[in-house]
Amino acid sequence: MSDDLPVARIAPPAILADPAPAAVLAALPGGRAVGGAVRDVLAGRPVADVDVAAPFPPEEIAARLTAAGLRVHETGLAHGTVTAVLAGQPVEVTSLRRDVVTDGRHAVVAWTTSWREDAARRDFTMNALSLSAEGELWDYFGGRADLEAGRVRFVGDPATRLAEDHLRALRYFRFQARYGRGDPDPAAVEAIRGAVPFLSRLSVERIWMELKRLLAAPDPAEAVALMEATGVLPTVLGPATLGAPGVLGALAAIGAPADPMLRFDALLTHGAAEAARRLKASGEEVARLVARYRAGHDILPIQPAIAVGGPDDDALRRLLADQPRDRLLDAAWLRQAVNRAWGWQGPDDPAWDRFRARLAALPIPTFPLQGRDALALGVKPGPEMGRLLAETRRWWMEDGCTADADACRRQLAEMMKAIHTKTLPKM
Ligand code: ATP
Ligand code: MG
Repeated sequence: MSDDLPVARIAPPAILADPAPAAVLAALPGGRAVGGAVRDVLAGRPVADVDVAAPFPPEEIAARLTAAGLRVHETGLAHGTVTAVLAGQPVEVTSLRRDVVTDGRHAVVAWTTSWREDAARRDFTMNALSLSAEGELWDYFGGRADLEAGRVRFVGDPATRLAEDHLRALRYFRFQARYGRGDPDPAAVEAIRGAVPFLSRLSVERIWMELKRLLAAPDPAEAVALMEATGVLPTVLGPATLGAPGVLGALAAIGAPADPMLRFDALLTHGAAEAARRLKASGEEVARLVARYRAGHDILPIQPAIAVGGPDDDALRRLLADQPRDRLLDAAWLRQAVNRAWGWQGPDDPAWDRFRARLAALPIPTFPLQGRDALALGVKPGPEMGRLLAETRRWWMEDGCTADADACRRQLAEMMKAIHTKTLPKM
């Protein structure tokens, strides 16, 4: 271990003095923060959670942490990871590992005491840094310089690293989107092209998770374009047809929220829900895309009105009565981005902003009658009641969604009378 010298000493970051990481590091002599936390400390970015590694087998790590009074969850023990919790803050603690067998999807690992070996199995040089509580920095593969230069570079030979784990082809784009500057590393791009035929072996769940992480980056458009150019994106999306290439970029340009689902939608526009279903997205996620699609149908025809400051409040309430507000907002962002990407003349940007502000501000109208109101008026339960309520709701919508319960009851009563006299009421 005498050759395992730190390359630098930096001011110990405050995040390592938080109760949980500090207690973990104190309980594990020779332990270091690893991975994303070290990278983000050096990049001056906010650090979400600290991962720690230590040169002991997992059982020993668990025993030492427990003895130090931390709560320890052993769910990942077989992979060498335990989760320590203190004051509600979790810290993942992993034994130093080296790969014994890899097949592109799974790895058999062995514990090691070599930090260099552990760093060598990590994906990118900027992810292979480690840092002690005292601020000593270890950097075996030039990760610090790569981070500063905006180079996302594989540790070791890219093709070998991709053959060990195909998921790294997708992870590359996530880190490229967040830390890449200038031209992407040619060796990485070439190796990723070569790995495309193997990507179909990845489980769709892992693909979906990685895609969402990529799409959560502040501005993923360039990395996504590269992903398309290398053939990775069409392969992982399967038969889905990509939408216009510029929509994702336009979405960022108009200031839309950094929402991975909205961006996935922008990537495909048509068939986003279908593609998400194929990737085994959650029911909630698929439902959101379906609802956005429906809301989009209602936005399309009112664009001329949006351009001139409309539509009026009655029309807006009708929209809100029929479609979830958040999906209308999604649809408005997407429509605006599509217009911009295609160079279509539509409402200008401030008009869209005003439209969304009004959509966001109006209370959601709810139809004031329920089945029991119809019962009280003497309507028998059954299809007749459903029809009468639906008709009354239609009248309430036409009227601008402002009629109160009494007015709706009167309307329903009139409709009943009309049915009995076989004439329709005047609306
Ligand atoms: P984020 O802030 O997005 O979570 P992260 O660096 O913490 O970034 P994780 O996916 O949480 O990313 O992984 C933690 C660390 O584990 C990485 O920094 C990297 O060192 C290592 N790692 C994760 N997945 C792989 C992989 N497939 N191959 C090699 N190393 C990996
Ligand atoms: Mg992480």
